[in-house]
Amino acid sequence: MRGLFYSLSLLLILFNTTVSNSKVTSTEEYARNAWGNLETAEVTTRKVNENLFLLYGLGGNIAVSTGNDGVLIVDSQIPIIFPKIMKAINKLSDDKIIYTINTHWHWDHSDGNLVLDSDVTKIISHSNARKNMQKGGLINMGTTILNQEPYPKNALPVITHENGMSLYFNDEKIDLLHFGPAHTTGDTVIYFTNQNAIHLGDVFFSNSYPFIDVDNGGSLTGMINYLEKIVLVIDKDTIVMPGHGEISSISDIKETIEMLKTVKNRILISIKNNQSLEQIISSNITKDFDKKYNTLLLRDTFIDRAYASLK
Ligand SMILES: [Zn+2]
Repeated sequence: MRGLFYSLSLLLILFNTTVSNSKVTSTEEYARNAWGNLETAEVTTRKVNENLFLLYGLGGNIAVSTGNDGVLIVDSQIPIIFPKIMKAINKLSDDKIIYTINTHWHWDHSDGNLVLDSDVTKIISHSNARKNMQKGGLINMGTTILNQEPYPKNALPVITHENGMSLYFNDEKIDLLHFGPAHTTGDTVIYFTNQNAIHLGDVFFSNSYPFIDVDNGGSLTGMINYLEKIVLVIDKDTIVMPGHGEISSISDIKETIEMLKTVKNRILISIKNNQSLEQIISSNITKDFDKKYNTLLLRDTFIDRAYASLK
């Protein structure tokens, strides 16, 4: 009994140590710290192609397809900005949102589901993304841990896929693709084949190190593999819509793949040399990439999560 008590105490001490290093915070608190005054944030609209637009607001970029069948959106950001998102969509089309595709379960891409009209809009995602939305959970960003609340039934996808599916909507074949665990275990990229434009969710940021949700099954090796598969599907003219950041092209994806492979090799060598995470972070292993990528997501968070997925 005493032994059991001792083990439990030790476990508690270890648990407390782990948690005290990283602060658990609500997604709203995180958003206010990261983005400032959420109430005054504005939405801007970028025309991507004929009948395809990209909305910037608070959270992951939203793609909007308009046409004969109605409106389809990719990702839904967060409720506080959603009235402004709707206003921007209404300027592009009088129709209702028939489909919402979530690229993955993270709050800044999917919390807007909470305020969608579930009588009209059908939400689609990878099956693992739906599971995560349903149960909620912690998103470990290294220095901060976010707590995402479980979604009620009306905010959950009603259509899921395992390894991809196609929609025929607005006179276009829209391919939903999945290439295994990467940023999360339920990432979907959405390829508008007629318009040759692709939304990559958080598998790709245009000018920032990526975040890898390692505690929920994401991995650095998976990110590299996923991006390599995408490069085989698209071509030099494809318009690339990142989860966060500006519209890009295949050459930006290739550059990111090279960066990820280089950093991966450097971390593996450091691990082999018994270097701690702190030593790796302080040894500037990303210094030749920091100018391009050290913007939205800070380098230390990227290295922290990359290390966690490799060690
Ligand atoms: Zn994400």
